[in-house]
Amino acid sequence: MAIKGTIFNIQHFSINDGPGIRTVVFCKGCPLRCRWCANPESQSFSPELSWIGKECIGCRACVESLPELSCRFEGERLCFDREKVVSLEKVDGVCPTGALSLIGRRVTVDEVLSEVEADQKFYERSEGGLTVSGGEPMAQPEFTLALLSEAKNRSIHRTMETCGMGASGVMEEAAKYLDVLYFDVKLHDPQKHKEWTGAGNERILDNLFLARRVRPDLTIRVRTPVIPGVNDNEEELREIHRIALDLGAEHELLKYHRLGASKYEGLGRDYPMGEVKLSEERFQELKSSIFVTGVL
Ligand code: SF4
Ligand code: SF4
Repeated sequence: MAIKGTIFNIQHFSINDGPGIRTVVFCKGCPLRCRWCANPESQSFSPELSWIGKECIGCRACVESLPELSCRFEGERLCFDREKVVSLEKVDGVCPTGALSLIGRRVTVDEVLSEVEADQKFYERSEGGLTVSGGEPMAQPEFTLALLSEAKNRSIHRTMETCGMGASGVMEEAAKYLDVLYFDVKLHDPQKHKEWTGAGNERILDNLFLARRVRPDLTIRVRTPVIPGVNDNEEELREIHRIALDLGAEHELLKYHRLGASKYEGLGRDYPMGEVKLSEERFQELKSSIFVTGVL
């Protein structure tokens, strides 16, 4: 039987998720719950309904075509039964603007790779390829490993973006198929990590070291989102930087942003970070205090 996984997007022509121009496959589901997560739709392993108010034109097509959701307007807000299980086929094409959508679909490895291979000519020119991201790709091990392995068979360049929260056997196997590994290390302190993400970081760091042991030649890029009130201090960032240096890995700081806030609203959830912001000035100050050139 064809191996399937649940994804929430395939993004073409990305230039921020590995070398060259890339096609990024976003796996749905993550074992962490980082409070600053910019992709809350990536967290649940199940498909989920989203409604983005500013894209709704009030046409009421959903009210008529999806009675099982009990769609109704309360003022200008669309209310519906979010817990109801509906198929993608049922929801697809109902909303003319995409304000109401079902996020998440089951796909086979072959279906994904056909879409990835359609961008082949861009990979050749830019030395790009496939990036498997999430959510957490290692949380769907059978699918992710089959995808990476088959991409390798087809000579497609392979990058994985991970938060590191997966079984050691999966990390070990994935490392064998990869050309580049992007690995998030958000906090050095395990207790603080648990407080802000819902889990300690012991397994995450073990997997980072394991990837290096299995593949001494692998390009590893440690990425640290700099989050106000969480890790926006020299002490924490230096600890992570030291880990990256010890591993011969690149290290990059990513500036906190609030672009995901409206997605929480779409999912009927509160944005957990409130109104916090990180100024460009403070971010640059931290960067120049940790690095000489910004990226090693
Ligand atoms: S690891 Fe990434 S995808 Fe998972 S909750 Fe954290 S920020 Fe979101
Ligand atoms: S179908 Fe879409 S645009 Fe029309 S009312 Fe429903 S959510 Fe709004």
